[in-house]
Amino acid sequence: MYTEREKIEHSFLQFLHITHAPTSAWHTLTLSLHIHIHPRYTLIYNMLSSLASSRTSVYSRLSRASWSAYSSAAAAVEQAPVPEVDRQLNGVTSTGVRNDWELEEVIELYNTPLMELVYKAATTHRMYFNPKEIQQCTLLSIKTGGCTEDCSYCSQSSKHKTFVKPTPTLTVEDVIENARKAKAAGSTRFCMGSAWREVGKKHAFKKVITMVKEVNSMGMEVCTTLGMLSPEQAKELKAAGVTAYNHNLDSSREFYGKIITTRSYDERLKTLENVRAAGISVCCGGIIGMGEEAKDRIGLLHTLSTLNEHPESVPVNALVAVDGTPLAHRPPVPATDMVRMIATARCLMPKSMVRLSAGRTKYSTSEQALMFMAGANSIFTGDKLLTAPNPEFDEDKLMFKELGLQGKPAHSAPLPSPYFPEEASAQA
Ligand code: SF4
Repeated sequence: MYTEREKIEHSFLQFLHITHAPTSAWHTLTLSLHIHIHPRYTLIYNMLSSLASSRTSVYSRLSRASWSAYSSAAAAVEQAPVPEVDRQLNGVTSTGVRNDWELEEVIELYNTPLMELVYKAATTHRMYFNPKEIQQCTLLSIKTGGCTEDCSYCSQSSKHKTFVKPTPTLTVEDVIENARKAKAAGSTRFCMGSAWREVGKKHAFKKVITMVKEVNSMGMEVCTTLGMLSPEQAKELKAAGVTAYNHNLDSSREFYGKIITTRSYDERLKTLENVRAAGISVCCGGIIGMGEEAKDRIGLLHTLSTLNEHPESVPVNALVAVDGTPLAHRPPVPATDMVRMIATARCLMPKSMVRLSAGRTKYSTSEQALMFMAGANSIFTGDKLLTAPNPEFDEDKLMFKELGLQGKPAHSAPLPSPYFPEEASAQA
């Protein structure tokens, strides 16, 4: 098997040979262009392309076959993703973004002794991010309860009798007021969630579009989570200024059917595809503590890390067991389970934001510190996460102070890694 570079060099040399060009001169020029001027060969394609057309009368028949081989090899290289370069720090190697993780590799990583895994994840985290920076997002429920889906963990499903009473969609003014408060408290991303199966009603969607425009004009990043989305709706949201769309896979494909029956895993993947195609950042993760086994947690991480592009953000939620739901009696998720999940996600998707999401009130500052150490670099702030309790803004301020953390400004690239300051860091 030849590499793309070898194929190009081969067809290029063939071209030189056929056109009787003085090979040594061409070769020197080629190498200098390859190595010093443009690593992805664009200059060489352009130069050869004009050479081929200018010499058409003399060389056209001879050079056609060679040129065609050369151009297809060139096109392949142009379309290929920029190769990832391994990074090494303190004995840990990261291969960067990979979408070809084998299931066995994920199993091995997930089952690494915890302290070793945390060390690996913490070191990987430092290769791509500045570990003191934590993004703060605020999540607001703009339409609560009455959802026709049957997600077993959810207080808002109309199939379960919980404390949640269905309420109409909030007014645009209410949403702006909430966004203002969140911004004043340091939040830079505002996420709006509605208890819908899908974005169906035209009127309601128009209202959401207005909310998105308003929050966007306040200088905050805007995220929405509105259920399933068509390609057209995704484009409309993008045009209105949405930064990211949240749509979780929740668990492994195998376990998914035990917690939700009203929409399929593939429907969820389809929505993610529509979001990606519209140019919106993908926020996608899952929940642990629903009765799944380790293989389901591994399955979820494997699916996420082998998507064509990693989600820019990966929320890791601990189940908040709500009375009246089928999962009401599930025991709390041990902090170490969250740490393992976060650390594995960090190693598999080193350039994604990993979000420590629902269930945070159950964990002490020390436990959360270990989760940040393991690579979590985003949290939800504000006293509620849709309907679940969440630490107050002030509690988080204290925690940030105690742990020496700082917030991430909106619409800004993450702070560079202190160990690789010159290199582009994360994608989010
Ligand atoms: S998780 Fe979302 S889709 Fe499922 S029941 Fe709750 S609101 Fe509906």
